[in-house]
Amino acid sequence: MGLIIGSFLNVCIYRIPKGESVSFPPSHCPVCNHKIKWYENIPVFSYFILLRGRCSSCKNKISLQYPLVEILTGVLFYIFYLKFGYTLITLKYLVFTVLLIVGTGVDLEHHFIPDRITISILVVGLITSFFTIGFESSVLGAGSFALFYIILYGYGESTGYEIMGFGDVKLAMGIGAMVGFVDLYTVYMFINIAFITGAVVGVTLLVLKLKTRKDMVAFGPYISLAGLVIAYIS
Ligand SMILES: [Zn+2]
Repeated sequence: MGLIIGSFLNVCIYRIPKGESVSFPPSHCPVCNHKIKWYENIPVFSYFILLRGRCSSCKNKISLQYPLVEILTGVLFYIFYLKFGYTLITLKYLVFTVLLIVGTGVDLEHHFIPDRITISILVVGLITSFFTIGFESSVLGAGSFALFYIILYGYGESTGYEIMGFGDVKLAMGIGAMVGFVDLYTVYMFINIAFITGAVVGVTLLVLKLKTRKDMVAFGPYISLAGLVIAYIS
């Protein structure tokens, strides 16, 4: 199920930032408009075995992002299922995973996280809290997870040295509403995981000269990763 939904998430990552419909028109090659046949659309298999990374019509390369997003979605679905079984918590975290993957994909490519994603995470977190973690925990989580990012955002706005975008604040708030408030140590871990992984990847990219200091960095993916880890362990 994760692989199939992952395939659809690729469509969302590509179309949502353009404001296009995710259901119409049907999938096609962006270069030659070739309509993707059902057997060319089987997750992972079609890309590696059938098409070997190229459009069957014009032979242009298809991004490796497509199978990677499918595999990532499948693996994360499986991990949450192993941890929480057939429960409402699992279902909630599958929706959470889906939204974070689309947000991450868009942020990496366009350097913003759509409101449709962050607000959805917040709303789903608050609504499902009545049946899972409790509304109070959800509201406290939203506030405490967002607080540090609000301070960073405010600092950036007042000094002109922007560290965080407001999308990051909304994302952290949504994640807090999803996983709820456990204790201050968890909030501390949530911030640490994002900043440590962000720093490690950032420094690696600089050392490998894949990015320079002037490049825009998307921080949403690291906040998302931290959110998934906290959801799993708490
Ligand atoms: Zn093509």
